[in-house]
Amino acid sequence: MPELYELTIAEARERLDRGEITSVQLTEALLDRIAAVENQVRAFLAISDDLAIEQARAADARRAAGGPSSPLDGVPLAIKDVITTAGLTTTCGSKILENFVPPYDATAVARLKDAGAVLLGKTNCDEFAMGSSTERSAFFPTHNPWDLARVPGGSSGGSAAAVAAGEALGALGTDTGGSIRQPASLCGVTGLKPTYGRVSRYGLVAFGSSLDQIGPFARTARDCALILGAIAGADPRDSTAAPQPVPDYAAALSGDVRGLRVGVPKEYFVDGIEPGVEAAVRAALDVLRDGGAEVVEVSLPHTKYALPVYYIIAPAEASANLARYDGVRYGVKQPGDSYWDELERTRGAGFGAEVRRRIMLGTYALSAGYYDAYYRRAQQVRTLIRRDFTEAFEQVDIIAAPTAPTVAFKIGEKTDDPLAMYLEDVCTLPVNLAGMPGLVVPCGFSSELPVGLQLIGRPFGEATLLRAGDAYQRVTDWHTRRPALAPDA
Ligand code: GLN
Repeated sequence: MPELYELTIAEARERLDRGEITSVQLTEALLDRIAAVENQVRAFLAISDDLAIEQARAADARRAAGGPSSPLDGVPLAIKDVITTAGLTTTCGSKILENFVPPYDATAVARLKDAGAVLLGKTNCDEFAMGSSTERSAFFPTHNPWDLARVPGGSSGGSAAAVAAGEALGALGTDTGGSIRQPASLCGVTGLKPTYGRVSRYGLVAFGSSLDQIGPFARTARDCALILGAIAGADPRDSTAAPQPVPDYAAALSGDVRGLRVGVPKEYFVDGIEPGVEAAVRAALDVLRDGGAEVVEVSLPHTKYALPVYYIIAPAEASANLARYDGVRYGVKQPGDSYWDELERTRGAGFGAEVRRRIMLGTYALSAGYYDAYYRRAQQVRTLIRRDFTEAFEQVDIIAAPTAPTVAFKIGEKTDDPLAMYLEDVCTLPVNLAGMPGLVVPCGFSSELPVGLQLIGRPFGEATLLRAGDAYQRVTDWHTRRPALAPDA
């Protein structure tokens, strides 16, 4: 019998529905697990234990009253700290928002609460989600539960590590250039970046507004389907949240991939990809083929431009979005002699080095005289990258590729080399530039560290991705492996 903190959401729901456990017992098991391993993992910036127990009691009362229950009713989840939570600090991993308590819930959080989910706390991340290792958190780095000397990936490293360590059954993250998929790969959990517009961004603190999406982490594709079903859909508060109806994602999990056409982009097996990563991904393709999928090579010829294009567009949008942190309306203010002096001191002390680097890159790319050479050109190439996907999806139903070129690297290994850090995302950035959905499922190990298979779908093709991921997980057991994490003495 697995420990309660090791259950999948679907298993927990069955046991709750059968009355074998209560949500309070489940939530206490998670809070005990957090107490036992959090000193080592450091996935959380804030733990909302009192609120969690209160929500669990309410869930138990609803079940006892026999009302219809949602699949997430009474299920403990964690939330990345760039997503607003009414009454709970939302720091974005930044000193400048260290004391910020939002007065409202993000739409995704409000929908989880409506579905009865229990909120365990807020998870660590790179400052304003800029990074690939969670080392850029202004507070402390998170450790990979598979090897505590290594990073969990980023920027949603706290959410991925929490699920991997048994500190939450699922979590919300955000993905602007890979921040759900790369940490899912590095921590051996399942993660989904939905189509741009599938989930409302209301209450997601903006980084790159044309790229940002909220999505789930969990142990299985099925659990990701349950969370996505709860948070997706149109929202009057975000005009980019698409009106497309939300399918029953869990009902789409037929376990069958027969006849599914899977394209493998040759450009994603980049120079410098770790041989063990490539081997695990290629073995996963064989599993899909054995299940009856038709695996063919495709080409996404503009892939090599995705990194430079992203590092113009994302910083440009970030420099505009982060202009609001002036210390006047919210955040930690540094006193000064004049408004300008105060602004300089506040932003100088409040933002870390990577955030300042992005603001400078973005401001430069948008400045008069450079706009056409950089920003406009980048947007034009972005169109070509999107067209690559559109053309590939005329031949295939989904695309399968590596998620990151490496497994989890050592803490400190890449912090002095921003370019090496940016290269972590070569296989994930194009998907955000094109607005497509991407699912990552654990597919093996290299040097005893987890590797994730990335499945990319057509816009609003999440159901097909989840079906393929679930079918893969029915015949493999990589997603059931757990790190050997000894509880604190
Ligand atoms: N690692 C990428 C960056 O630093 C992507 C981050 C993200 O997806 N939020 O911008």
